[in-house]
Amino acid sequence: MSILCEAGKPMLDFRDLTPPEIIDAVQAAGGTPHQGQRVARAVLRGGVQSVEELPVAGRLRQALSGRFRISSLGVEAHRLSKDGSGKFLYRLADGERVEGVLIPDRRRNTLCVSTQLGCRSGCAFCLSGSQGLIRNLLPAEMLGQIHAASRVSGTEIHNLVLMGSGEPLDNFENVKRFVQSATHRFGLNLSPRKITVSTSGIIPVIQRMPTEMPVSLAVSLNAPNDELRSRLMPINRKYPLQDLMNALRYYGRNGRRVFIEYILFLGVNDAPVHASALADLLQDLTCVVNLIRFNRYPGARFEPSSEDAVRVFQKILLDRGLVSVVRDSRGADIMAACGQLRAAKDPVPG
Ligand code: SF4
Repeated sequence: MSILCEAGKPMLDFRDLTPPEIIDAVQAAGGTPHQGQRVARAVLRGGVQSVEELPVAGRLRQALSGRFRISSLGVEAHRLSKDGSGKFLYRLADGERVEGVLIPDRRRNTLCVSTQLGCRSGCAFCLSGSQGLIRNLLPAEMLGQIHAASRVSGTEIHNLVLMGSGEPLDNFENVKRFVQSATHRFGLNLSPRKITVSTSGIIPVIQRMPTEMPVSLAVSLNAPNDELRSRLMPINRKYPLQDLMNALRYYGRNGRRVFIEYILFLGVNDAPVHASALADLLQDLTCVVNLIRFNRYPGARFEPSSEDAVRVFQKILLDRGLVSVVRDSRGADIMAACGQLRAAKDPVPG
């Protein structure tokens, strides 16, 4: 449902705009560039919840209030895990709900942001994708997750990982605008290195990222050969491994960071032969390999690998000179771990 302005046109959500667009809008309404910068900071950092609260003079505020609105997300539920991470159930304006996770780590807080309601990639192991794609999230709805999580937890967010529900590169235009607002000095002013975008491997968009969105890139790989990867991740039939490796080698130039995410499934992709094949595949790529034991959820078709199998797998990679880290998946007890988030019309148990 769109909200109409006095002229009968849909009102724009200030939080869907990038900082330069907000500054232009304020100038078009009769303000100065400096007032535009103040408005951008207030809107994008979450300091105001309505146009009436904008830190500008009355006449300018009135001119803006006829054309713009400022949206925010409600938090319907907030559950804390034993390990300190917290899962949020956000409520969107159209009644849909989406989840996200805040992961505190010493003095740095990382927020896992969802980019779509559901996902169309259809990875065999993923709860987020099990319902298909419902819709893309807008920049304001991604930014709103940061504001809401920060408000409810009372903490600052230092790092973002776009690894919640959805394939970020399948919603690239909205994600790119969100990242512009997150990194701009009149926005959240985060370093691009503090933002990691996770993908199943949409090659044409990865190729656009160095010029359009040069953040850290995590690729959910999960298999060392095309036959197995296509079974786990159907997108591999369209974008096979060797083409993906070429795209990643190019992306990794000029200091851009590449992470390889490898979820270990019992008896599927966790044998020493898989580790050796993975080391062969990654030999020319500068990357960090994150090994993650699969997190169970009700109805899952896979089981987690044993801790021993994970250790053996990691040792093979380390012996071959690959930087490899076993990641604890945080929040597993509240269904907030990797691949366990989802979108929902109804409140999510668990
Ligand atoms: S793992 Fe990522 S890309 Fe695959 S279905 Fe889940 S959300 Fe989509």
